[in-house]
Amino acid sequence: MRKAGKDDVKERLLSLSKNLEAKFIATRRALHQIPEPSFEEHKTQAKICSLLKQVRIPHERIAGTTGVVGIVEGSGRKTIALRADMDALSMDEQTDLPFKSRNKGYMHACGHDAHMTMVWGAGWLLKQLGKDLPGRIKLIFQPAEESPPGGALELIRRGVLEKPVVHAIIGTHVSASIPSGKVGFNRGAISAAADDFKITIKGKGGHGSSPHSGIDAIVVAAYFMTHVQTIVSRRVSALESVVVSIGKIAGGYRDNIIADTVHLEGTVRTRSERMRRKVRRMLSQILDATCASFGAKAKLDYICGYPAVVCDDALTQLSEQACRDLLGKANVKQTTEFEMGGEDFAYYARKVPGTVLFVGIMNRRKGKVFELHHPRFDIDESALRVGVTALAYSAYRWLESSS
Ligand SMILES: [Zn+2]
Ligand SMILES: [Zn+2]
Repeated sequence: MRKAGKDDVKERLLSLSKNLEAKFIATRRALHQIPEPSFEEHKTQAKICSLLKQVRIPHERIAGTTGVVGIVEGSGRKTIALRADMDALSMDEQTDLPFKSRNKGYMHACGHDAHMTMVWGAGWLLKQLGKDLPGRIKLIFQPAEESPPGGALELIRRGVLEKPVVHAIIGTHVSASIPSGKVGFNRGAISAAADDFKITIKGKGGHGSSPHSGIDAIVVAAYFMTHVQTIVSRRVSALESVVVSIGKIAGGYRDNIIADTVHLEGTVRTRSERMRRKVRRMLSQILDATCASFGAKAKLDYICGYPAVVCDDALTQLSEQACRDLLGKANVKQTTEFEMGGEDFAYYARKVPGTVLFVGIMNRRKGKVFELHHPRFDIDESALRVGVTALAYSAYRWLESSS
């Protein structure tokens, strides 16, 4: 018997996804109705298990988590994983969709309902290739992308990249800046390491009429905040991407009291580990020096978030080529989607070659124009079929090229 070539497989995947499109849409809507917070995706987990059961994909719940892993066996030794995140955001949905959130206070406003649908759908399509699938597919449904420390680290600790060993991994995210029908890729470090900090500045209280007898924590904080701006403007090369923002400040009592304490909270975004360490050091140095110059004291809590997602060049190029063959050259874009945002896909991509497939969901005519995390966010559902096929065909092409 002649082995199926990549063009046969491409046609088969395209026609399967066309026939199954209504299922993908129904599945995404069902998931959209049951948004759950990070680490508490219980109903979502049950739904994923039942979806995998329906299409006869062997799967198991990942002990101690709400994650699920499914396996599609083909006829080769290599394994590529497809990863979807499962959690929603704590916000009230403000759409008029007939399938809007039924869990008040939570909403799938980051498209994770679409990611789960696309990874499940891709698994289903690839399963139908039978022996023509030249390897194995691992479907990873991961809890808690939105809340550091995130679910990825825990799943890796529990062996999600082992038994069978994963040789490459593709993650996916919807993109509100790419029109539906198109997909996008980005090269190298595609997201930022996202760290947070909390600072307490301690001065000495006193009467507002005799500031010299106290140490005004508000003035110290003001100098510190001004100095901090020079990290980006004066101490980091203009060619680097660094953000230091202070988003919260609180302190003081009333008009005529010298404040003894000020609390500050902020975020640091960097795109390399070297710069991450450097900015952290500068932040602490500026804080100590500013406080010392006033005789104040400070405490800095620096909380490391997700590292930067670094895409593997070869895998990214291979997926891009697969998508160009599948969707046409004009429908594969270069994107900057994650930019200075954070993503715990980073942890997988540190262990095995990884890349992220961005699926366009924007459609002005249909009014699908809201950004991720917006209370009126929604996707153009025609993107589901595109995402399903793009993931499936990229995975197929990787297995074909490495078997
Ligand atoms: Zn998000
Ligand atoms: Zn997201």
